[in-house]
Formats: sequence, structure tokens, C-alpha cells
Amino acid sequence: MIDPIYEKLPGALNARSMAYPAVKCKEFYDLVTFLFTPEEAATFVAMPLGLATVEEIAENLSMKDLKKLAGQLETMADKGLIHIRDRSGKKLYEALPFVPGITEYQLMRGIVDERHKKIATLLRDYSKAMINTLMSTNPPPMEFHAPGKKVAVDREIEHKSTIVPFKELKDLIMDTEYISVGTCICRHQAALLGKPSDKPVNNCMVLGESAKFAAERGFTTRLTKEEAIKRIEEAEDAGLIHTFANSPDLYSNLLCNCYKDRCMIIKGVSKSPVPSLAVNARWVVQINEDDCTACEACIPRCQMDALKMVEGKLVRDEKRCIGCGICVWTCPADAMTLEQRPAAKIPLKS
Ligand code: SF4
Ligand code: SF4
Repeated sequence: MIDPIYEKLPGALNARSMAYPAVKCKEFYDLVTFLFTPEEAATFVAMPLGLATVEEIAENLSMKDLKKLAGQLETMADKGLIHIRDRSGKKLYEALPFVPGITEYQLMRGIVDERHKKIATLLRDYSKAMINTLMSTNPPPMEFHAPGKKVAVDREIEHKSTIVPFKELKDLIMDTEYISVGTCICRHQAALLGKPSDKPVNNCMVLGESAKFAAERGFTTRLTKEEAIKRIEEAEDAGLIHTFANSPDLYSNLLCNCYKDRCMIIKGVSKSPVPSLAVNARWVVQINEDDCTACEACIPRCQMDALKMVEGKLVRDEKRCIGCGICVWTCPADAMTLEQRPAAKIPLKS
């Protein structure tokens, strides 16, 4: 028999973000009863949207012992269920959505033990059950993009991933005070489930205020700007696409560096008939025919199948190109450049 408080968690999680919706099913309860104690679930449900003081949360819980509640909130922050922000010396608390937030924090430490193997299994099983549940929703009021599928959910998805090529990312890093890095959650989850990746894994980055929280709580390690750029160059060499959650510290400025064999988002985008519309594609590649030697080195680097040879000439499919720039990095003849799409006029940072 499941404590009825867990029934209220989907509403509390989905009110924060629907990027990875919470839907009621056996696998959801298996996951949340593993992550939250009943007391933590009750506190989470009582937390107002956005930042709140311990007094405000205590009032919603009709709880008088502020010290006990503050201690519980500290434990929840260490478990990656909530954020704690410092505002002029006062602690403010914020409940997190599944994504971006709780899911990433469960695996970013890169720990290999029985608890984390269990979490990897629970997340895998819940993802499958969530997609199946949403697929059977009828009628579909809105669309949710799952790998290669469109699934209905009952409210708007506000989260859209943004593809950021190396040059733009370098500028963003130079302009960001706090950067930290953890283990790629997709590749770590796959490794915990027996499918390790041959790509570098320590390149899942957090930028901005959430980076400070994540490093202080041991989810990530702080990087200098130079170290961060070096990690991005390593990711570029490995053909990993830089994807930014584009939510300027609403919950976390999460920068993924991943590829379609391991990343649910990139896999879904690559299966779309128009990948450039499935993400926030800010750039598109251009080929300088005079410089191109038709060496074909760029073709296998493109995860969107946007490049091919036609009668001895390299051509690109503009609809399939998401402007990741991974091909540009590879070209030995410097025959490729990136050109702005209209989305690139929107600043990455507010
Ligand atoms: S063509 Fe180049 S820039 Fe466009 S999606 Fe493929 S690898 Fe990325
Ligand atoms: S890597 Fe450069 S030179 Fe080689 S085919 Fe691609 S664009 Fe042409």
C-alpha cells in the first residue's frame, strides 16, 4: 500500500516543468518511493512554486519546528530533490521538476554502486512506462516529443533544447562566472545498465547559479573558464553535440554534450523528418564548393544525416541540419562555415 502523499507528487513535479512529465503508473511510484521518503514527499508537495523561505513552507505544512524542517530541506538538497539559494544571507528553497533537475542530480556524481544501479533501472523503466502511458492518452491536446514519436500530454511543453556550436559556446563560457562539470547522465545510466560508452563522460556541465549549488553539494566539480573550454574541445573531437537547456537558471543551465546512441533528446531529434524544427536550431552549415575536396570526412560526423555526396559534390539538407558544427570542426580544408538562422538573434543568456 503506497502512502497517499505520493499521489500528489505528479502535480507538484509537472507544475515546475513538463520536459519529462510525471505520469501516474506503477513505475512512477516505484521511482518516487525510492527517491523520496513520505515526509520528503509531503514537504515537496507543500513547497510553493519558485523560491520560498522555511517559514512559508512550514506554514503550508502546519509545522512549528523550523529547525527540523530546515534539516530535512538540507537532506533533500543533498539528494538532488530541491535547490537551495542564498539571498542576502537568507536561505531560500525551490522544489525541482524531474527534468531539468531531479533526474540529472541522481546520476551526475558518476557513482557506481547498487543504489545507483537501482536508480538507473528505475529511471529506464519509468521512461518506457511514461512514454507508453502518454501514447495511449486520447485525445492528444498537446504534443510531447519522445524518441522518434509524438506523444500527447495535457499541457504545454515550455522546455526546448538549444543546439550551441563551439564558437557560440566559447563566448557563453567566457561570459559565465560559475561553471561546473559532472558525469553525463545518459552515458552513466547506460554504463550502470551494462552498456558503457567509448566517448568521454565527464562533460555534463552546469552554468550559472545552479553550477554553484551543484558543486557545493558534490554533484559536480567547479571548472575555470579555460578548463571548461578544454572539455568542450574534447567533446567536439569526440563528435558530441552541445545542447543547452536554455532556461536561464530557472532550474539549471544544463549543458549536455552527447550523441544519438545514448541521448534521448538527440536520438528523438535525429528521427524527426525535420530535425531543425525539433530543437532550437540557431545555425545552419554552408559549404564552400571551391574549397571542398570531396574527402567525405564530414559525412559520418553528422548525426542528422544532413550531408551526402551527389555526383561527386557534397550537398547538405537544410531541413536536417541543426547547426551543431561538428562537421565544421572536422573539415581539413576549412570548407564549412555556420550561418545564422533567425533563432540565433535571441541571446542565449538573459
Ligand atoms: S551538417 Fe554539420 S552542422 Fe549540420 S547537423 Fe550535420 S554535423 Fe551538425
Ligand atoms: S570534410 Fe570538408 S573537404 Fe571534406 S567533404 Fe566535407 S566539406 Fe568537403
